[in-house]
Amino acid sequence: MIDFTLSEEQKLLIEMTRSFVEKEMVPNEDELERTNQLSPQLASSLKEKSMDLGLHACNLPTKVGGGGLDAVSVMLIEKELGRTSLAMAECAHRPLNILAACEGEQVEQFLKPTLAGKKRDCIAMTEPGAGSDLRSMRCRAELADDEWNINGEKHFISQASVSDYCVLFAATGEEETSKGIKKRISAFLVDFKDPGVEVASGYRNVSHRAYTNNILRFNDVRIPGWRIMGPEGDGFRLVNEWLGPTRLTVAATCVARAERAYEIALKYASEREQFGQKIGKFQGISFPLADMATEIKLANLMLIETAWKIDQGTVTTEDCAMAKLYCSEMLSRIADQALQTVGGMGLMEELPLERIWRDARIERIWDGTSEIQRHIISRGLLRPLGA
Ligand SMILES: Cc1cc2nc3c(=O)[nH]c(=O)nc-3n(C[C@H](O)[C@H](O)[C@H](O)COP(=O)(O)OP(=O)(O)OC[C@H]3O[C@@H](n4cnc5c(N)ncnc54)[C@H](O)[C@@H]3O)c2cc1C
Repeated sequence: MIDFTLSEEQKLLIEMTRSFVEKEMVPNEDELERTNQLSPQLASSLKEKSMDLGLHACNLPTKVGGGGLDAVSVMLIEKELGRTSLAMAECAHRPLNILAACEGEQVEQFLKPTLAGKKRDCIAMTEPGAGSDLRSMRCRAELADDEWNINGEKHFISQASVSDYCVLFAATGEEETSKGIKKRISAFLVDFKDPGVEVASGYRNVSHRAYTNNILRFNDVRIPGWRIMGPEGDGFRLVNEWLGPTRLTVAATCVARAERAYEIALKYASEREQFGQKIGKFQGISFPLADMATEIKLANLMLIETAWKIDQGTVTTEDCAMAKLYCSEMLSRIADQALQTVGGMGLMEELPLERIWRDARIERIWDGTSEIQRHIISRGLLRPLGA
């Protein structure tokens, strides 16, 4: 049986989140975009309200103390939050899914305070010399007397400046694989108050104003043995198990922005007159609108199907890669076409189109570039055939 009907609860979640975004976030977009800053007062008020609404940590399972929403519902929430500037949407924080893998002391020291909104997490994988090729990372952790000693550097770490700790990926040794010797990667919980951790400013970024990225330096950082997540060398398995589905979050955000851009273009085409008629009467404007609507419909179907498969436990890495690839590239096409539909005004800061167009660019790069998504998908196609 195939049924695309949303439950009453899911409809209410959409309504509630949309109203929160429209009332509390959208009116602050102009200021945020103009100043490239999110005031701490606004950030904490948005966080408080999102906690009251139950949006905070809604993605984590109830057995660890999260909201326990199914993947379809989380995706629907992400789509509503995705309509506005990321820095504000992120105040309704959904912690990293990987935190559900916390055990023992990790639960008390990291997971519980995160769920209570007292600590904030971020993820540190990328290095100046190790982007797509994460296994080439140089940051390393060595075990001695039940303490890990960490040295190395990470960059492009989103929101580290407003976080309390990171899930850090570091090399803990080497192993022989069918492709030669590769580094063994493990995940650690590293508190930014741990001696030897430096959270430095990152780069200025054309996408996502007020959403910081930072450089992290680890200089002889000694952390207790229990801060490793899972067994030593388990880092890549954790990434695949917990972080693959987070690509759906990126995909949902992309569809949200594409919808907002399309809505503006559609309205403009129905109102703006040139040569004595509505510009929507020109096929040069109306046919791209038809293409946009069709692409958005397809993207929504991918979101629903992938989220549904996560809930069924049947999702594959390729499913998440396809959703992320298609939705992020679709957003770029639609942001550009929506801007073209509006003409010169599309580039002006009076409309959110220039922001959506700027912000769209990063979605094809982070959480695995489009090329890496194509690599994942194509390996899934060819490997079973022995190629
Ligand atoms: C603003 C921002 C925030 C970020 N936030 C975080 C974060 O919070 N935490 C974190 O760990 N990382 C974060 N990242 C890092 C992000 O995930 C990486 O930028 C991304 O994985 C690509 O790595 P790279 O930029 O080093 O590019 P590279 O890996 O150097 O790639 C350069 C080019 O080569 C291509 N390429 C590389 N390998 C292949 C291949 N095998 N086949 C075909 N093409 C290939 C790429 O697709 C790309 O076009 C962030 C990045 C940015 C820009």
